[in-house]
Amino acid sequence: LLALTKRLLEVQTLLKSIENSTSAKKKVSMQLPSIVVVGSQSSGKSSVLEAIVGQEFLPKGSNMVTRRPIELTLIHEPDLKVPYCELPALGLFKITDFKSISQTLLDLNRSVPESECVSDIPIELKIHANNIPDLRLVDLPGYIQVTNRYQPELLKQKIRDLCDKYLQEPNIILAVCAADVDLANSEALLASRKNDPLGLRTIGVITKLDTLTPSQAVDVLSQKEFPLHLGYVGVVTKPVSIKSDPKNPKSGTMVLSETQYYNRNSIFKNSRVQVSVDVLRKKLVRVLDRSMSNSLSSLIDQVQSDLEETKYQIKVQYNDERITAESYLADSIDILKQRVKLFKESFGKSQIRDEIQKYMHRKIIEICSSLYWNDPKIEQMSEHILGNSKTPFISDFIDSSRRIISDTAANINLVLVELYKANSDDIHFSPNKTGTSSNKSKLRQLSIGPSGENDNSTNSSDYKNANSSNYNDSRLWFPENDIYWNHKLDRSSGLLVKSGIGRNTTRLVVDLIMNNVYEIVNTPPFSFHPDARNLVIKIASEVLRSKYISTVEQVENTIKPFKHEIEIEPHEWKLARESSLKILDDQILKCKSEIKIAKSSTPARQLNEYIKLINRALERGSTLNTVVSDIINLKKVSELKHENDTISPETSNPISDNSVSLLDENSSMDENKLELPQPLNSKKSNYLDNPQLNVGSLVAAQSMVYLKSKMEVLQFRRQVISSSKCLNSENKSFCAETFLVLLSQKLAHSAVLFINYELLNEFFFEMPRKMQSQLYGIYRDETKELAKSFAEQNPKIKVHLELIERKSKLEEVMEKLNNIIREKSLLESYSNSW
Ligand code: GDP
Repeated sequence: LLALTKRLLEVQTLLKSIENSTSAKKKVSMQLPSIVVVGSQSSGKSSVLEAIVGQEFLPKGSNMVTRRPIELTLIHEPDLKVPYCELPALGLFKITDFKSISQTLLDLNRSVPESECVSDIPIELKIHANNIPDLRLVDLPGYIQVTNRYQPELLKQKIRDLCDKYLQEPNIILAVCAADVDLANSEALLASRKNDPLGLRTIGVITKLDTLTPSQAVDVLSQKEFPLHLGYVGVVTKPVSIKSDPKNPKSGTMVLSETQYYNRNSIFKNSRVQVSVDVLRKKLVRVLDRSMSNSLSSLIDQVQSDLEETKYQIKVQYNDERITAESYLADSIDILKQRVKLFKESFGKSQIRDEIQKYMHRKIIEICSSLYWNDPKIEQMSEHILGNSKTPFISDFIDSSRRIISDTAANINLVLVELYKANSDDIHFSPNKTGTSSNKSKLRQLSIGPSGENDNSTNSSDYKNANSSNYNDSRLWFPENDIYWNHKLDRSSGLLVKSGIGRNTTRLVVDLIMNNVYEIVNTPPFSFHPDARNLVIKIASEVLRSKYISTVEQVENTIKPFKHEIEIEPHEWKLARESSLKILDDQILKCKSEIKIAKSSTPARQLNEYIKLINRALERGSTLNTVVSDIINLKKVSELKHENDTISPETSNPISDNSVSLLDENSSMDENKLELPQPLNSKKSNYLDNPQLNVGSLVAAQSMVYLKSKMEVLQFRRQVISSSKCLNSENKSFCAETFLVLLSQKLAHSAVLFINYELLNEFFFEMPRKMQSQLYGIYRDETKELAKSFAEQNPKIKVHLELIERKSKLEEVMEKLNNIIREKSLLESYSNSW
């Protein structure tokens, strides 16, 4: 009436699903009773189970076919036409072919390695049919009697241990004993007595009754030696063949069903023993139902306490916050949209303008240091602009600085020669083979690579052309000078306008946007969701890419006219002048700090000594075109030398020319010591041992000379720009820094306008839309599985969701249990009132 077993089996399924979905260590330990089938091998266990189910589905064979427990749930469905099986763990549902199930079970059992023999990982099997009771049975590996070669003694024990695990309360033991084996030897009864000493929850099943005479069978069934509270049931699970006339041995045989067999032998009826599969089945239902009923209250207690615990966890850990996978997904997308919105609000024209301005200033510094700050004629110009009295220092440094700065580095070879000379008088450079070039020019030729500091992003040949002039020694001001500086200003403006502003500024803004996008998705929650994160990045870069080319072109087109002529308003000039002074101040500060670093890294005495040496070399009027680092890199030089050794000295790199090779072929160098060149005609000298020769100091000295000169030029330029001559744009060709800043401001303005219009507006329009449609598109699916797997990528959310699911399932279980209790007590009070 209550269908207790059925309803509790449903509860059990729910409890199992809680267990399976919990990643936390704590597992639900709420147990409901099952009927556990034990018996020796070949005692007829499988036949009994199949007789109860009415289907053949168990694997057959003599060699240990059952190696894992089979947890079998029978579900009675009155309206079901075709019975079916389910193996949920394998994702197999509604399997109507029972033969195939038998094969699958065989495979699952065989998957246990021979060495382990048995495994305690159960196989879950469900059978739905209209002719079965609601039952839960567990089939276990049979006890083995004899151990053969393949079944060592250890196996016996393993099987016993496995069975013992299942024979615990509240389970019911179905002890299967074959009628043709003495009950005293029954392993099943032994195991039962061990786990259920009073025999309160064991049902004895005597199989193969037909192997005894009916009276013997009755004797076995009514024996009092091994009493069981729930009694014995005898079964015959195979059709029985008997002589049609037992008294006549010559009579033919006939095949009887189980029922026919008992009916034919009235002794079974008269002796009141319990026989037949049907009787057994009913007994099992009754016993299990009672056992379930007894377990009810303890089950309720367990579920209740687990529910309380779960609620507590949710409260403590998550402040009772209710979430679902979908709500988390929606929240995450909202957060993303919110962040993009915030980014949009904070990222406006002014930020882009600042960034572009910074970029422009770098370009201006590049152009100025190549075209102005290293121009030897800057002295003339200074005198013209400021007058002699205001520039007392200029003539002191300009001679050396023009050389140093134009090449950015002192020729280390010269210094080495000086050092050499200081130590030994017998240095002789052998004359060149052709005898035409001087040693000095050879040394000059030895220098390697382009000059140093400028990063050459602007065309260096442009600078060279602008610098070449014949009248740099004159201290008088000729009209050509104006032409020269005008021409130079044009050239600088051209360089600035044509320096790839469209591409560079657009790129700059794209990078800024992408950096922000990365920041947005690299913080939680999206840092937990790599797929979604990558999708957002992909969308952002696709949107930007689609706008990139057109933005670059637009910017380039709008700035083109600035190449020719620009209007200059007085207030614009004023601002640009301030800005250019700041650039110069920054450069001066930079020089100062670099000087400080060079000073602090080298002993003062040595540094001064080297500086003196370098200055002396410079005074000799040498051309300085070697970068120290290239010289230090001896390996590179000697490789080059080696390469060129085979080529004619006249046509190849002068390094191959032996007469001027300052570097010994086998020379090597450690970190600080520079091996001095080995003049070919001279005897080996001891430069190597010279403790004075410190390459680090040499480099520091060289950069000191360079930096000091550079700083003086910069200070001079600062003086020029702050002078009254640069108050307005009239003398713009002498105030190049200011003019270039002004130009750059105009360029930046145009660039910003178009980048904002072409790129930013489009980006902030399209990005959120695409994001929304694609993110929702990906995760909006019927099964909600995608939302779930998204949410579970976040470990904290995963645990939270699990707890919530656990809570709701436990509540469902509780409700079911309470309903059962209510109905049960109603029923009891009803029957009591009778
Ligand atoms: P298990 O190894 O305990 O599962 O035993 P099985 O159910 O496989 O049965 C072992 C052997 O006993 C098989 O050859 C069956 O055909 C046979 N058997 C099972 N039930 C009966 C029965 O009621 N009568 C007879 N005579 N043989 C049976």
